[in-house]
Amino acid sequence: MEKCGQLYEGKAKKVFATEDKDLVIVSYKDDATALDGQKKGTIVGKGAINNRMSNHLMKMLGEKGVKTHFVEELTDRETVVKKVSIIPLEVIVRNVAAGSFSKRYGVEEGTSFASPTIEFSYKDDSLHDPLINTYHAIALNLATRQEIEEIKDMAFKINEELKKYFLELNVKLIDFKLEFGKTSTGEIVLADEISPDTCRFWDSNTNEKLDKDRFRRDMGNVEEAYAEMMKRVFGVM
Ligand code: UDP
Repeated sequence: MEKCGQLYEGKAKKVFATEDKDLVIVSYKDDATALDGQKKGTIVGKGAINNRMSNHLMKMLGEKGVKTHFVEELTDRETVVKKVSIIPLEVIVRNVAAGSFSKRYGVEEGTSFASPTIEFSYKDDSLHDPLINTYHAIALNLATRQEIEEIKDMAFKINEELKKYFLELNVKLIDFKLEFGKTSTGEIVLADEISPDTCRFWDSNTNEKLDKDRFRRDMGNVEEAYAEMMKRVFGVM
């Protein structure tokens, strides 16, 4: 499968057309942004780690019955995925309070929830991705009520599978962000990526952060944290 023209360049990935109108190639970059784009930097090796980890997790989820956009890994950084129209909602699932949740509701980071929780943000950079409720999303035609129900069910199932998977690697899955897309046949599939850019991972024993918070919060050892997650998922790199 060959890349044709570039369709899009985002903050962390480029997307290319292919000869097949239903397939695109994503190419993962080392570029990192945070704080609504105000903080920019490079995390050396991140593109390859996120590509390989995300593909591995999507394959695993596929085996558990979750429909995803994943088709084929081409290289360290490049993957063929189904072309979808992205539903403009960031779907955030949380098991433990952290980040914006902790700030908004005054709950100390690290507080476990009685049961997992979900929220949606409207994916729009110019509006700074505001929180949105499902009634608003339906009113704005971002998705139908049935689609939102399906997305919620998929998101909680993904959470259960990922939680179990990471716990065996001695990693607590604190929270994560998902994006879903619609294929040309109208099927809803998990899209975008699952990686240390989009998940909070804490070491089960020490609560050491092994994710992008190290970059967001200038904690140092950013590359080391990504490499450690890679090592836990794949054994030696
Ligand atoms: N997240 C993401 N992209 C975003 C916002 C959040 O991937 O634009 C992920 C983030 O890595 C974390 C989860 O979603 O795992 C919840 O993030 P939160 O709402 O706490 O936002 P933050 O504190 O990062 O602003």
